Amino acid sequence: MAYDDGNIFAKILRGEAPAHVVCEDDHTMAFMDVMPQVDGHTLVIPRQGVETLHDSDPAALAHTMHTVQRVAAAVKQAFAAPGIMIAQLNGAAAGQTVFHLHFHVLPRFDGVEFRMHARDMADPTVLQAHAEQIKARLKP
Ligand code: AMP
Repeated sequence: MAYDDGNIFAKILRGEAPAHVVCEDDHTMAFMDVMPQVDGHTLVIPRQGVETLHDSDPAALAHTMHTVQRVAAAVKQAFAAPGIMIAQLNGAAAGQTVFHLHFHVLPRFDGVEFRMHARDMADPTVLQAHAEQIKARLKP
């Protein structure tokens, strides 16, 4: 399907919508999920405007996965998480709600269940503090 650049992540990339940014470079951006399923829930997106994994240029995807790897390590450290889950949904049938390719980075703890997907907005002050905690632990 044709990419629609009216989606919220495209607006964040263009600076038209706010985000609690963890990092950005020429190819990617990472920011806090505003309705986190767990504290530290971070999203990594390519700058390339594509809806799903299937549409991505392999080189853009390689850059994105490098950022996912860096962000996952920083989230793991920042939240002292024994486990990190990477989730990526393609198509409404898979639960995708924002149609710009993105990877969820989710800290996991034994016995801690997720909150509902895309349901409750978090306190912006807390999200900004989490972004700073992750940013401080990012390695090149
Ligand atoms: P998905 O359902 O995989 O498409 O995930 C989209 C994610 O984007 C959900 O986890 C939402 O909570 C999150 N989300 C929606 N709007 C925003 C926003 N403005 N800033 C950050 N995250 C958002």
